[in-house]
Amino acid sequence: MPHFAPSTCPRLIVKIGSALLVAADGSVRRDWLAGIAADIAARCREGQQVAVVSSGAIALGARRLKLPKGGRASLEDAQAAAATGQIALSQVWAEVLGAEGLTAAQMLVTLNDLEDRRRYLNASATLDRLLGLGVVPVINENDSVATTEIRFGDNDRLAARVGQAAGAGGVLLLSDVDGLYDADPNSRADAKLLERVEAIDERILSFAGASSGSGMGSGGMRSKLEAARIATCAGIALVIANGRTERPLAGDRGTLFTAQAGASPRKAWLAGRLTVRGHVTVDAGAAKALRSGSSLLAAGATGLEGRFERGDVIDILHEGKAVGRGLSEYDAADAARILGTKSDAQADILGYAPRAALVHRDHFVLI
Ligand code: GLU
Repeated sequence: MPHFAPSTCPRLIVKIGSALLVAADGSVRRDWLAGIAADIAARCREGQQVAVVSSGAIALGARRLKLPKGGRASLEDAQAAAATGQIALSQVWAEVLGAEGLTAAQMLVTLNDLEDRRRYLNASATLDRLLGLGVVPVINENDSVATTEIRFGDNDRLAARVGQAAGAGGVLLLSDVDGLYDADPNSRADAKLLERVEAIDERILSFAGASSGSGMGSGGMRSKLEAARIATCAGIALVIANGRTERPLAGDRGTLFTAQAGASPRKAWLAGRLTVRGHVTVDAGAAKALRSGSSLLAAGATGLEGRFERGDVIDILHEGKAVGRGLSEYDAADAARILGTKSDAQADILGYAPRAALVHRDHFVLI
């Protein structure tokens, strides 16, 4: 990776996919893990702080419980497999890091822990303290309690959110793919690896097939690109690289997604939120005003969809495309009643003093 900023940033998140941790027969790839632990230890000695986002709980647990389809036949199976596999996973990490003189700490988080601002700040403070103490946090989704609607489901986006919470400068997604290709490298000999991506646009998104190549984890290129969007919008560089190499942390092949000029941490957190409860469509004038930093007034809103409460995150769309995302000042029912109206008419419609905007600019971020 010629421009691999994450290798030099003070704080790095390394995400390790299931296919790297667990062999096809379901056993732990201990030698490989010992190698990565040695790499992490070398980084720590150089003063870099490293946190690991580790997959593999479901794949490991499925083997122990002899569950079909790698433990992913049903949610109940996946949750039982995760509970069984996680304890083994943390033990392995504690051992391989311990052999390098490092202390491991386990953090299991759910989607809501990072979507709710207070809980997010709490997780963020814990990560900060652990890293400051020289400990290596090993993080996974708390799959055994998370339910379908409220889970990440893939550790790529989790790693990007953890990167934000930890104030990391880089996120490295290690899996069994080299990076992002401009065509499917399995079927096209002329497929080219993209080394550097400055903006995740329609063209870049079109290069992603949907599913996980190994069939063992749940992420695929799609979730990796989504992770790249979350990370780069938060001012964090993200690299997708192949972990099936000798020294993956020092690797020289992969795709670098460069960090965007940082939004404030709070706005980046908002942009990276995964739970969006609805959307409001706006006219051209409102879209323009939002882009130049104004709040969204109800007068410029033309329609809405979804069931949201005051304070929920909603997307703002113009002509079918997302303009941005923000916290709604109203619940969906009241927002619907004042669509297209001017401020001075709203008190009569609502029966109470209206708020300054439908979405205030302090709680809005362009995407
Ligand atoms: N959290 C899942 C596990 O530990 C992995 C999710 C993923 O495949 O990205 O098994």
